[in-house]
This record gives sequence, C-alpha cells and structure tokens, in this order.
Amino acid sequence: MKNLIIYSHKDCLLKDNGPNHPERKERLQTIIESSKNIENIKIDFQDSPIADLKYIKLVHQADYIEKIFSKIPSEGLISVEKEPYADTFLCSNSKNAILRSCGSGLIASDKIIANKENRIFCAVRPPGHHAETKKALGFCFVNNVAVTARYLQAKYQINKIAIIDFDVHHGNGTQEIFYNDETIAYGSIHQSPLFPGTGFEDERGVGNIFNASIKPGTKSDEYIEIFEHKILSKIDNFKPEIILLSAGFDAHIRDPLSQINLEAEDFKIITKKIVQIANIHSEGRIISFLEGGYDLLALSLSINEHLKALVLN
Ligand SMILES: [Zn+2]
Repeated sequence: MKNLIIYSHKDCLLKDNGPNHPERKERLQTIIESSKNIENIKIDFQDSPIADLKYIKLVHQADYIEKIFSKIPSEGLISVEKEPYADTFLCSNSKNAILRSCGSGLIASDKIIANKENRIFCAVRPPGHHAETKKALGFCFVNNVAVTARYLQAKYQINKIAIIDFDVHHGNGTQEIFYNDETIAYGSIHQSPLFPGTGFEDERGVGNIFNASIKPGTKSDEYIEIFEHKILSKIDNFKPEIILLSAGFDAHIRDPLSQINLEAEDFKIITKKIVQIANIHSEGRIISFLEGGYDLLALSLSINEHLKALVLN
C-alpha cells in the first residue's frame, strides 16, 4: 500500500460563489470523498496552513493583496471583475480560503525538500492559475502554483522549475508572472478559443513558455499527441529540478465549461507521462494543485486516475 499526502482545509469549503456558480464547495467534497476509496493507496489528509504574506509577496504586489483583502465583504458577495467576466467573487470567508490554498503549496514544498515524500496533491480552492501579479481573474486571487515556485527558489535555492498546466483554460496568470524568467518553464495545453483568450503558440516568453492550443472537439489520441510533442518534449529538454502541476480536469468530455473530449483514463496517461519526466530529471518530485473541473462525476473519476498515476509510477 502506498501513501499519498493530500493537503486541504475545511476553510477551503467556506469559499462561497453564490448559487449556480460552477466553482463550488461540492467540487472539493467530491474529490475528498472519492479519493478515500482508491485501491492500493492510503490517503493521508493533512491540514493546509495559512500562507505567510511575505511569500505571497514574492509573486503579487503588496498593494494588490491589500486591495483584495480590503474588499472582502462582511456578508454577501462582491465581484472583483468587470463585465463580461464578472464571476470572480469575494465572500466573508475568502481570506482564509485564499491563504490556505496558497499555504498548501508551501508546506508541500517543505515536505518534498525534506525528502519525506516525492508526490503531493493540494486539494484546494480557490484555484490560482488565472491570477496575475496584480489582477484577480477566473475565480483566482493568488496564484498558488506561482507562489510555490518562488518559495522553492527563495527558500531552497531550487532553480529550474517546470510548471505543467493541463487545465482546459490557459493559465494566463502563471504565464504573465514568469514571462521573462528563464528559470521557470511553463507549459500549458488548453482549448482555444476559450476564456481567458491568451496562450497562443507564438507567446514564448524568453523561450521558457510553451503553449499548445487545441480546438473544440479534440479527442484523446490527438490531445495526447499534441501534449507530448508541444509540452512534454520541451519540459524534458528543460530538465526541471521539480515539477509543479496546475491540474484542472475540465478537459473531460462531461465538463460544462469547455468542449474537449477527454475521458477519465486520459488523466492517468497524461500524469504517467509527467511522472516519467520527473523520475528522469527531478528526483521524482511533483506537487500537483487542483485548478478547474466542474462536472462532479468527471472530477471524481478523473482525480482518482490522476492520483493513482502520481503515486504508483
Ligand atoms: Zn479551467
């Protein structure tokens, strides 16, 4: 029986986006429940701590963080975006949910560097990959994966870090944060056209950004071929010391926010290929962060395949 630590926190369930919003607490409840029953893996749930603001400030400007927190309402919801994307809300419980989501990556880093584990999953919300240096977007406020990358560099002098993003939406935030940083390779496969409208293949940063756009209707075989060719081969060349994942499961055929036709088993294939690269270059070290995925059944099936492939390879 193998072990897997999942960092999460009940504060992440208290983040409320109002009725009929796709990013809802049931997503996290579904993941936690379904992951308890994975064969041959014992899940060790641990509480995610509150992230120290000094580490968040490695990525986000101090006045941006202060502005977000100062907008938190005592009741009800406040949108932080203007039309047409006014669906990123703050509620009274947002602060701790944001800080616990980010804190998961920091404690996961400590564990991995201390060599206690080499694969960790962060089951948190709100997600992070749309959050830019000074902009909240797409349900995201603090870019969890980006703060973790900067933390690993600042605290542990890990230099070459790869971030692989297979959420169906482009991680505009992660790209913006690292656009001119050759120490971080960012590879994203995402549907285009689709929100947020970035991630074209000619957006290459300083040679460290790898975007693969896929058309609506793309099925498993074609998706995986593109993923290998346009993302994994580049990450392989980069030889990262650790791999961070923006793991979204919204490319599943059942997902209501996109039109890509992956099945749950495809997330096993994708993850296994990433693990192979981590085993070659990164001492097997992977921290995976929950991003999107909005159909509960698809999320539960896909996450189990992802976690199995993370741990058993
Ligand atoms: Zn997404």
